[in-house]
Amino acid sequence: MLEILAFALRQERLRVKEYLLIFFSLARASHSWLCIGKHFSLSSSHYWVGILSAKMALYSVEQQKALSAFLGNRFDEFNELLEGFGEFVEEEILPTAEEIDKRAIFPKENVEKVFKQGFAQIPFPINVGGLGLPYLVYIGCMEILSKACASTAISLEIHGAVCDGLLQFGTELQHKKYLGPLIRGEKLGAFCLTEPDSGSDAGAMKTKAELVGDHWLINGSKMYITNSGVADIYMVFARTKNGYAAILVPRDAKGLKIGANIPKLGLKGSSLAALNFDDVEVPAENLLGEDGMGFEYAKRMLYGGRIAIAAMSVGIAQIAFDKTVSYSKERVAFGQKLSKFQITRSKIAEMATEIEAARLSTYFAASLKGSGREFEREACEAKLLSTEMALKVCNEAIQMHGGYGYTDEADVHRHWRDAKLMTIGEGTSEIMKVIIANHILGPE
Ligand SMILES: Cc1cc2nc3c(=O)[nH]c(=O)nc-3n(C[C@H](O)[C@H](O)[C@H](O)COP(=O)(O)OP(=O)(O)OC[C@H]3O[C@@H](n4cnc5c(N)ncnc54)[C@H](O)[C@@H]3O)c2cc1C
Repeated sequence: MLEILAFALRQERLRVKEYLLIFFSLARASHSWLCIGKHFSLSSSHYWVGILSAKMALYSVEQQKALSAFLGNRFDEFNELLEGFGEFVEEEILPTAEEIDKRAIFPKENVEKVFKQGFAQIPFPINVGGLGLPYLVYIGCMEILSKACASTAISLEIHGAVCDGLLQFGTELQHKKYLGPLIRGEKLGAFCLTEPDSGSDAGAMKTKAELVGDHWLINGSKMYITNSGVADIYMVFARTKNGYAAILVPRDAKGLKIGANIPKLGLKGSSLAALNFDDVEVPAENLLGEDGMGFEYAKRMLYGGRIAIAAMSVGIAQIAFDKTVSYSKERVAFGQKLSKFQITRSKIAEMATEIEAARLSTYFAASLKGSGREFEREACEAKLLSTEMALKVCNEAIQMHGGYGYTDEADVHRHWRDAKLMTIGEGTSEIMKVIIANHILGPE
């Protein structure tokens, strides 16, 4: 309870919190959401009625139901917090999302605002400066954030994977020096695995690290690194004489060169660049865990990251779906609303069912991870299902908006463009199938 209060205080949203308390008292007294709506309009509290509908838009009833099924009787503890986060995202992140995409600008202000909410601290233990809340709550917030601005969400998703790795494999000193500032949002992280000649086959990396006296010497290059240039800490995977190592490289390390921003189809606000390491020198203590274990650490970080990518995909699909439902209730063709056509209704039913299935698969994997059980296969299943679903739902959303959906004016194709990366980053759909099949059938 204390953690929730700390989170609420951090959110600096006590006014909304006070309102929610009144709101829930009324809900209990009247047993009706409609009565509450009436109550507020009769008392001319339009401001609060606005907040109420806004709140319901991003933190949806469907999401609440699914979370309650997984969190059980702990759900009430976290529901208010998620509502508060939904309101924050609606008010502070959503308004700039379209502009960020159009201008392809890194959403620095958004990232800072989300950090200020304590978002990056949610799943981390209190002893390292986290909030000690369930991983599922973090995943729920990731879904909400992705509904508004996937460019902001991807930057924080990668950052979260780096923090997760530091928590699992880092030393106490690294927890103090790096993890604390990262989860408090004082610094931003980047995950550097992919190279020009190795992506899916990450083990073929060529970047080398050599321990020379009391420091590591790193040479090589990385490709398609999110948060390049804007991150302060780069978790770099390299070959060593013992196999692979994961090494923390600060932005200002001599010899680290960051390439120009790479233009791309979607997630246009996120930064993406190549990195070059030319005799980059960092202290020996910057090694994460053990030399030789780096590739294993990368895989474990990616499994967690895949759950977050699945949550992002659910959020992206849900917002595209919500826009489609609204449009179908307004647009008239052949003398009636689109929502009255049987084919539209069939599509809407299918989209809703597929989003729900992906959400449940994502929450299942998140619950396994949160409770310390094996979750690799389920993380890959959630990623495969959710990312392919998002692409399909967003494609249908454009179709159901007709010509308008194809234009920049509609802000619908942004979701489809953002969804496409989800099927590629942190392991492609094909690689997800390879891993899932290996779990079932054993290696090829
Ligand atoms: C926007 C964006 C952000 C990214 N951010 C990061 C980041 O922050 N950090 C980072 O390290 N990387 C990042 N990446 C890289 C990303 O993880 C890789 O692009 C991805 O893993 C695929 O690797 P690749 O591009 O080399 O494709 P390849 O490995 O060359 O694959 C090409 C095609 O072959 C298929 N394929 C490959 N192997 C097999 C197989 N065994 N069986 C069947 N099919 C196969 C793939 O599925 C794919 O369709 C990012 C990429 C993008 C586009």
